[in-house]
Amino acid sequence: MMLFEDASASLARAMELLDVSEDVVERLRVPVASVKMSLPVRMDNGDLEVFPAYRVRYNTALGPGKGGLRFHPAVDVDHMQTLALWMTFKCALLDLPFGGAKGGVRVDPKTLSKMELERLSRAYIDVFAEFIGPHRDVPAPDMYTNAMIMGWMADQYATIMRRHSPAVITGKPLALGGCPHRQEATASGAVSVIEAYLEAHQHVSDSPTVAIQGFGNAGAKLASQLYEAGFRVVAVSDSKGAVYAPEGLDIPSLRRHKSQDQVHGVYDAYALRDCPYAKFEKITNGELLALKVDLLIPAALENQITETNVDQVRAGVIFEVANGPVTHKAAQKLEARDVDVLPGILVNAGGVTVSYYEWGQNLRGERWSEKQVVSSLKARMRDAYRRVDAKRQELKSSWRLAAYVVALQRLNEALRAQGTRE
Ligand code: GLU
Repeated sequence: MMLFEDASASLARAMELLDVSEDVVERLRVPVASVKMSLPVRMDNGDLEVFPAYRVRYNTALGPGKGGLRFHPAVDVDHMQTLALWMTFKCALLDLPFGGAKGGVRVDPKTLSKMELERLSRAYIDVFAEFIGPHRDVPAPDMYTNAMIMGWMADQYATIMRRHSPAVITGKPLALGGCPHRQEATASGAVSVIEAYLEAHQHVSDSPTVAIQGFGNAGAKLASQLYEAGFRVVAVSDSKGAVYAPEGLDIPSLRRHKSQDQVHGVYDAYALRDCPYAKFEKITNGELLALKVDLLIPAALENQITETNVDQVRAGVIFEVANGPVTHKAAQKLEARDVDVLPGILVNAGGVTVSYYEWGQNLRGERWSEKQVVSSLKARMRDAYRRVDAKRQELKSSWRLAAYVVALQRLNEALRAQGTRE
């Protein structure tokens, strides 16, 4: 099944429950704009390579498009429009004044030199400068992109448009109008949701065991934050495989090993399983997903827990830190077994929430302290959690359906106010 059909299945159920008008259903069925461009990039050896690049704006009823840019070999239109749909619901759920968008380039960034990476990033803005904008569509980091790349892009945008315009992109370096705590935001937002959940579900043990799939910006920072908070992080993984220690992994050492890739700062050139400082057993990514742990946290790619492997999952509760790692059918099977699956549009919303703070500061010429960011983020994540939890209890539904319903209510109000046939 295509990713987009899978995502639409969760949405369709929410639409039935809310009884939204035909007009709203029609408007949310497809993205408002979907653009594919070709990026010609001069490589270091003198050759010219042309990379396919995308930006999909799903819906803008609540504000300008918002969502990350990924550099990944799996980038295609299906992925981009699904991720843009999730961004639309994530922003609506968190009550941010943004619509949803996503973009990226089909490229294996690990094969690029730093100069090639910079040329690719600037080329993206060369072709999309008219399509994006602070009040039109605001990109941000996503898989295999980071603050350095956002900085190049903001600079390129200012050069092309002949105006200083930091609010065009978020997740920038601090020196270029970035926001403190943006890089930690996805992880700390997830921690707020995990804490809120555990306060209400005290049957989970005092020092819960955790397995995290993915050791990128979200997964690695989350591993550190949970480790520091006293959780027993027993397994983590990257694209090369997983490491497991039942007594708990030495996360600081694993982080130190992975951070040796100073050139790009985002690519896993150093495999976790080659870390010489920590003690562990090597397992596969598939084995990690099947571990008997209190908390399972997929924080890598979409489509990881599917109908094929869902029966092997033995975790007590799942927090989706990646976008869409558990398919619709797999989530239904887990819920039937009383395994809660907290949806990505809630759990990973910390990143875009701090992007919103950054955008607002850039528009108003302000600078927030880290303390202000951290406390605002926590309050907003907890508020969203409470609203989803209340809806779940009211509907006696899954977490996922409740989150979609809360977000759809917000979107429905805006779409109706723009004009629909009653
Ligand atoms: N890429 C992140 C996400 O999927 C952040 C998007 C943003 O900050 O706009 O939520």
